[in-house]
Amino acid sequence: MRSHRAQDWIVLVLAAIVVVLSAARFAPASPTSLEVYPSPSLTRQTWLSDYNPALKGTPGDTPVLVFEGAEPGGTMLVLGGTHPDEPAGCAAALVLAENVMPEQGRVIVIPYANASGFTHNLPQEGHPSHYTLDTPNGRRTIPYGARLSNPVHQWPDPTVYVESVRGQKLAGVEARNLNRAYPGLQNGTLTSKVAYAITSLIREEQVDVSVDLHESSPEYPVNNAIVAHDRALDLAAITAVELELSGVAMNIEPSPESLRGFSHREWGDNTDTYAVLFESPNPAQGRLRGKTDEQLIIDGQDPMYVKASSRGRLYVPYTEEGTPLAMRVGRHIASIAALATSHTMLAPDRGIVLSGLPTYDELVSNGVGAYLSPGER
Ligand SMILES: [Zn+2]
Repeated sequence: MRSHRAQDWIVLVLAAIVVVLSAARFAPASPTSLEVYPSPSLTRQTWLSDYNPALKGTPGDTPVLVFEGAEPGGTMLVLGGTHPDEPAGCAAALVLAENVMPEQGRVIVIPYANASGFTHNLPQEGHPSHYTLDTPNGRRTIPYGARLSNPVHQWPDPTVYVESVRGQKLAGVEARNLNRAYPGLQNGTLTSKVAYAITSLIREEQVDVSVDLHESSPEYPVNNAIVAHDRALDLAAITAVELELSGVAMNIEPSPESLRGFSHREWGDNTDTYAVLFESPNPAQGRLRGKTDEQLIIDGQDPMYVKASSRGRLYVPYTEEGTPLAMRVGRHIASIAALATSHTMLAPDRGIVLSGLPTYDELVSNGVGAYLSPGER
């Protein structure tokens, strides 16, 4: 009898261990586990909740990294991970944060802008929760999330999402889309609190140039593009010429005045910053894709897209070589560098001079992992 009871206890304890271990395995990653290993130029690390205290202790709070050069100048803000299923955006922000050495001015980087979106995947997409890159000193795992904030953190969705500037009506799920939430609400939903904090940061830090890094599917018309606010169109045009000189072709798309809630529209209308958004082609988020796995994220090769390309259905060049992550991150990093150079040409007293960044060709040849830390292993 006594030994039966002891056995029962052992079974119960073992069951409890299994439950705790599997809960830890499947629990959503908390935003503090979103890794970034800043370059030695880091002068200040803070949190987004510094710009909206209502975010403190919520899953929307996320690290903000400030890098400052010796010579005073202007400030550039770079956001990765507005849409966590657009991996080149977050990866480029990480490459920037882990390598940049500003000589003049400041760069502020938010690699995981929608931290909540990194804690889940969109239903029925079959996306992996992360992907792994080889770095010179070990492997680095980067989360792959969803376009929207996690419904566990913001629920329920309204039937119709009414955006806050003009009252435009969108599908209810768009209430969790950070890039429909600007300029944001101080005490609104989690997503609008995040948007409010970013708009406040741009004002408080007197950000001259603000960049939102995105990707779009190869069949989407706005691609390999800079979307620019009206006031930022000249800057975008000079940036595109700079990029052309380094062999990177980029389209310019004016931010439509009628589309509200977008970063490139509301940052420009509600602050003094020059607002731009970059797009690169990501087959892992496209509707025409086949097998969806880590390989597709990293190699960007999909036979369905080769077929679609041969029938003239895509808006970007696409061959068997695909659109690898290294190429897409290369486009983003080259665009950030060209944007800084162009802004410095137009406003030398607010110059932003960046060094330490890999070139487009270096990223394409060496891969993204070559420019990331494996972290503390
Ligand atoms: Zn996007």
